[in-house]
Amino acid sequence: MILLDRVTKKYGKKGLALDRVSLHIAPKEFVLIVGSSGAGKSTLLKLLTREEKPTSGKIVVGGVDYDRLKDREIPLLRRKIGTIFQDFKLLPNRTVFENIAFALEIVGMTNKEIQFTVPKVIDLVGLNGKEHNFPKELSGGEQQRVAIARAVVRQPKILIADEPTGNLDPKHAWDVVSVLEKINQHGTTVLMTTHNQEIVNKLQRRVITIDGGKVSQDIAGRKL
Ligand code: ADP
Repeated sequence: MILLDRVTKKYGKKGLALDRVSLHIAPKEFVLIVGSSGAGKSTLLKLLTREEKPTSGKIVVGGVDYDRLKDREIPLLRRKIGTIFQDFKLLPNRTVFENIAFALEIVGMTNKEIQFTVPKVIDLVGLNGKEHNFPKELSGGEQQRVAIARAVVRQPKILIADEPTGNLDPKHAWDVVSVLEKINQHGTTVLMTTHNQEIVNKLQRRVITIDGGKVSQDIAGRKL
């Protein structure tokens, strides 16, 4: 569950990025966040991952009240929230397998567990046979699927995707969206920002529109 209650974010004295935003997102929802550039979408996501703190208002994610969150608890929080971005952010000198394994190494998983877990997510995102390729040997859509695999390998409750199809042609964009739908069907809450109207129309999910730092529309999807 994600709850925002009258959340305001100002950068400095003037830069009002979010203005008393209240939202409730249930577990396992797939939510699209749309709005023009500068509307406040990334700020909203950064508040959820605790990259930014709100100026005022309340945020509760998965039962964790962010007002009570200590700095040392942030790494644990981020394990519950996977993130992917428009520009993939893969390690160029590591293979597909190693990029995904890295997310497990840094939390101290044993080699045996890593060898068991990584192939499962490679299978989930449909990259069998590409395990030993380097990012530059993959298409943009495949690179984004590696990024998704890395984000979900620790089984986060929530996956945040900030414009994940922004760098992709329509076919690859759909491959990525299909993988996100599959991950959602496995029980992960997905929040995705997009400028792609075709994706919004076809997905038929809840669409939250942010305009000038406020929620201007919140339309329930036909698919839950
Ligand atoms: P979006 O993701 O919808 O494009 P953002 O959340 O990035 O919007 O930005 C919302 C507003 O906050 C914009 O006016 C932007 O210029 C401003 N902003 C975003 N990040 C910062 C920052 N780190 N410092 C100052 N202003 C910022």
